[in-house]
Amino acid sequence: MSLPDLAARSRAVVWHPCTQMQDHEWLPLVPVAKAEGVWLETPDGQRILDAVSSWWTNIFGHRHPVIVDHLKRQLDTLDHVLLAGFTHEPVVSLSEKLVAMTPEGLSRCFYADNGSAAVEVALKMSFHYWRNIGRPEKQRFVTLSNSYHGETLGALAVGDTGMYRDTYAPLMLTPITVPSPDCSLMQPHGRQPGEGWEDYSRRRFSDTLAVLEARAAEICAVIVEPLVQCAGGMRMYHPIYLELLRKACSRLDIHLIVDEIATGFGRTGQMFACEWANIAPDFMCLSKGLTGGTLPLAVTLTTETVYDAFYDDYRSGKAFLHSHSYTGNPLACATALGTLAVFESCDWLSINRGLGQLMWTQTARLRQHPHVAEVRQQGMILAVEMAKAPSRREPFPAEERRGLRAYQYALEQGVLLRPLGNTLYLMPPFVISPREIERLCEVLIAAVDVACAP
Ligand code: PMP
Repeated sequence: MSLPDLAARSRAVVWHPCTQMQDHEWLPLVPVAKAEGVWLETPDGQRILDAVSSWWTNIFGHRHPVIVDHLKRQLDTLDHVLLAGFTHEPVVSLSEKLVAMTPEGLSRCFYADNGSAAVEVALKMSFHYWRNIGRPEKQRFVTLSNSYHGETLGALAVGDTGMYRDTYAPLMLTPITVPSPDCSLMQPHGRQPGEGWEDYSRRRFSDTLAVLEARAAEICAVIVEPLVQCAGGMRMYHPIYLELLRKACSRLDIHLIVDEIATGFGRTGQMFACEWANIAPDFMCLSKGLTGGTLPLAVTLTTETVYDAFYDDYRSGKAFLHSHSYTGNPLACATALGTLAVFESCDWLSINRGLGQLMWTQTARLRQHPHVAEVRQQGMILAVEMAKAPSRREPFPAEERRGLRAYQYALEQGVLLRPLGNTLYLMPPFVISPREIERLCEVLIAAVDVACAP
């Protein structure tokens, strides 16, 4: 099959996600035939370094032998069975491991098959919990500006990324939005030059606290992406915000939902980002890295307190009657067990510290670049924010599509970058070698030059 053939066939029948399909009249679709480690390979043998871990899922690279082995072995015994009324070894073992490795107090696992659905589960459980314990007036969710929690209507509703949300606003529940603690200098009313991340995050928290104190009686939960608002442009904040938020939520009887779908499994330098603040949420949503990017799977973990509020005589009507056909799929759970086995095989957090340090030093030149407002990093996420006039905090207009220029250039160089507007970022698989990081950073620097040229 030749390349143009596959791309043309795809355009004829596949509606590609998050895409203005008309772009593909001039922007070629990239067919991928194989993948191994950090490399994707086209049918004609061109290799592309997957610098974004295929939408942040592929933490141990493609087709990691341990994960593949777990999947193959599972295929020989049990493919799928419904999880209502039935159970199986992979889902039990996985749940035991997740409960053991996540913050103290999270003791129950509810499965779905994508991140958005895991968020929906957390929202519904929180709302339903308050009803079950006789506080039905608690119905509102609090979210941070610039947050992203997925695309289904509930998850989209508690997000604040206008590009994805605005069109569907009439269909949605309305959350209470508080200002993000995002410490980026490009945020319009953000951190002042000289103001540290911690001070700024504390200052932002005081706004949140005022809202929580005034409206606690009607709020079920606050939902946050811990430390990094990924889809919102890899905007980052200080863990003090999470620490203060946890204390306030406990004091005011409000749930804390931590969406670790993008940040979980070592991405930020701890196994889970909320460990930077040493906090335990009431709900934790996980997906993406859970199966190492091999199969779709998501889980919402919660506490015994929440679980107990649903545990009653059938006739009480308190059960959580939510289901997905593929919930707890054995193949996906076995794959997740493979991912956890890779984690257990060596000290990935320490390996990542070294790799993260190298990403930082190799991108030093960008910190002097006249069109770079900021280079920021949290663990294995490094983001470069381009701006028309960084000193005036003036972004490049969105319609100039500077990020797209960077994408096209990098692809010609054999690197997959997928910018978020004016923000280019690296979020590579943890199996990337130092030499590959050097190459990646070379291409990133050149891509910034190309994207910022007049
Ligand atoms: N929450 C966060 C923080 C995410 O980054 C994403 C996906 N980018 C989601 C939720 C939604 O996950 P999914 O795409 O699997 O529905």
